[in-house]
Amino acid sequence: MGGVLIIGAGGVGSVVAHKCAQLYDRFGGITLASRRVQRCEKVAGEIRQRTGRSIGVAQVDANNVKEVRSLIRKVEAEIVINVALPYQDLSIMEACLEAGADYLDTANYEEPEVAHFEYSKQWDYSERFKEHDLMAVLGCGFDPGVSNIFCAYAQKHLLDEIEYVDILDCNAGSHGYQFATNFNTEINIREVTQKVRHWSEGRWIETPAIIDSGSVHFPFEYPEVGKRESYLLYHEELESLAKNITGLRRIRFWMTFSQEYLEHLRVLRDVGMTRIDEVEYEGKKVVPLKFLKALLPDPASIGSGYTGKTVIGNVMRGTKDGKERAVYMYNVCDHAESFSEVGSQAVSYTTGVPAMIGALLVKERKWKGTGVFNTEQLDPDPFMDELGKNGLPWKAVDFGGELPE
Ligand code: NDP
Repeated sequence: MGGVLIIGAGGVGSVVAHKCAQLYDRFGGITLASRRVQRCEKVAGEIRQRTGRSIGVAQVDANNVKEVRSLIRKVEAEIVINVALPYQDLSIMEACLEAGADYLDTANYEEPEVAHFEYSKQWDYSERFKEHDLMAVLGCGFDPGVSNIFCAYAQKHLLDEIEYVDILDCNAGSHGYQFATNFNTEINIREVTQKVRHWSEGRWIETPAIIDSGSVHFPFEYPEVGKRESYLLYHEELESLAKNITGLRRIRFWMTFSQEYLEHLRVLRDVGMTRIDEVEYEGKKVVPLKFLKALLPDPASIGSGYTGKTVIGNVMRGTKDGKERAVYMYNVCDHAESFSEVGSQAVSYTTGVPAMIGALLVKERKWKGTGVFNTEQLDPDPFMDELGKNGLPWKAVDFGGELPE
């Protein structure tokens, strides 16, 4: 039995490694590799302390196809979990093809020079994965990931046709910093400063970025944490779900932000600190956003003392047996509980657990297929069975709340 290779030892990678180690016997060998091996060694030490299990560690530059291919072969990995950065998606997919391993990630490919993400370049790999009899699963974190699988589950069990989907992502936690991001600062800020899009009646509708006037927002009543202002945001699962849910009329994504966070972000953008092009400073080339990342707290380190909860879920409206029905599927995750279990806050936890489960299902052939898949294209049942058992209990309830028309 081959093992699993996890690439990226940041906030999410650490959770994936911990969760794989908790199911050590089902995974076979586990190796954690990253640009800096010291980070892997630190995580491996924590895992040894918490679970008594040993995992392998390695240094790798995931932009280098040859290096990744050799590492896959050396550790005899059957599947690679890519939780490095979206910039590395294509090189890791390429290496998987060359070395004969399945592939799974949590974020779609981005070019470093352009703050834009879409699936096309990864979907283009489908034929080659088929030819090699291999499987690639894209976007298997929480959102994308569980948000897509909630749609597949509702489609299979709760609704005959899904017409409207609203994905609502609330972080009602407090990390105690004036300004910090909950996952990779560079990727996060590129995402939230973009113009917003949602999909309605077959076309994309553009609205202002969350920090610009005219941004669309409303207070949503979240279970357990109450009302929170939620902002319309473009998120990558909208692209695949709009394509894969038959009969869909509209899909939107909402995320909560505090006024304090938005104010900081607006100032940083206005003074040029979120720029992704190189600027010359004292004879050196500097990318302001990368410099900002170096100044802000490392998302992998903000878990200690983090309080509060995340509440992420989908409201899905459509018909069942000829009658209108609205259902809400969601998970509530506690930052402090995540930290005490694996040493990471809930944003990393809610991303890492689904990635581990997806890889397990591919490995155990409960998710089968050749080619490239988004998670809504796979059977939701074995995934949902594992989700609660592995730390992310979920609920499906009838929805009677308010959403903007
Ligand atoms: P971090 O920045 O904490 O970690 C990224 C890790 O990748 C770092 O350890 C980094 O190494 C490593 N890395 C970067 N470049 C390379 C490279 N060329 N070769 C090898 N390793 C590399 O990010 P997060 O853990 O917060 O996020 C990881 C991924 O998860 C991101 O792609 C993010 O978009 C995604 N994500 C998905 C979510 C979802 O729900 N679907 C939610 C949240 C995040 P080093 O430390 O040496 O720099």
